[in-house]
Amino acid sequence: MTSATGNAVIRVRDLEKAYDIGDETVYALHGVSLEVRRGEFVAIMGASGSGKSTLMNIIGCLDRPTGGSYELDGVDVSSMSDDELSEVRNHKLGFVFQNYNLLPRMRAVDQVMVPLFYSGDPAATRQERAIESLRRVGLGDRLWHRPTEMSGGQQQRVAIARALVTNPSVLLADEPTGNLDSRVTEEILALLQESNEQLGVTILMITHEADVAECATRIVQIDDGKVIADRQVTDRRRAHHQVITADHDVVPVPADAASGQPTVSPA
Ligand code: ADP
Ligand code: MG
Repeated sequence: MTSATGNAVIRVRDLEKAYDIGDETVYALHGVSLEVRRGEFVAIMGASGSGKSTLMNIIGCLDRPTGGSYELDGVDVSSMSDDELSEVRNHKLGFVFQNYNLLPRMRAVDQVMVPLFYSGDPAATRQERAIESLRRVGLGDRLWHRPTEMSGGQQQRVAIARALVTNPSVLLADEPTGNLDSRVTEEILALLQESNEQLGVTILMITHEADVAECATRIVQIDDGKVIADRQVTDRRRAHHQVITADHDVVPVPADAASGQPTVSPA
């Protein structure tokens, strides 16, 4: 769909989120305007309580503003019904959280197939697409592992594969490296940069760490529900260049996998 938004994939105007507490009105967001162009990698920075999660939840169609407007891909989503919003979430957005949010007993391939089920993807190709997405994040040798059998970094890569499998317009990441040590943080940031550059997915990432934000192409700072700074990262940091998506051989389906799983040939 074309519109006057041109290249803007996200356009929020005068966004407000107000909570009435007794006689008082508390603003979690107090007039946020922001345009994100297709292909940008934007870090949202701010102290605890500044409104980052509120903004992310509204942009992620998980919450509604009490004022202002929001267009995603040129479509006004601020007045959509719950069903329409979940449709938008399933087709246009991918989510990555600090705690990975994986389903505890599910194998990696099945985790990544879940959004394909909700987006109405043909059943016959779901598993193939999930495997492809896991291989892209370097987990060809962990396809049939459960979260308890993987490190934190591997679990976050499963979550990224799950977020990207539907080819979303926007990937929303809320403190994606918050639980990871510095080495694994670099791997995850390298993977996000690579996804941004090679797949062209627009990324919005919340962080409170300056050196994490520096891997983005743009840093937006919020405080007290308002944008207080917005700058391009001109000298783009190249610290995260470990090759982590070098593919591993695909491990064949184990004998105890659910029946009906096709056998996967090694690459
Ligand atoms: P951040 O993610 O930056 O830590 P939040 O977006 O979670 O900040 O919260 C922003 C502000 O809005 C905080 O002051 C918080 O207390 C307030 N807030 C968030 N949710 C609610 C709510 N349900 N009721 C009242 N106040 C809220
Ligand atoms: Mg928060």
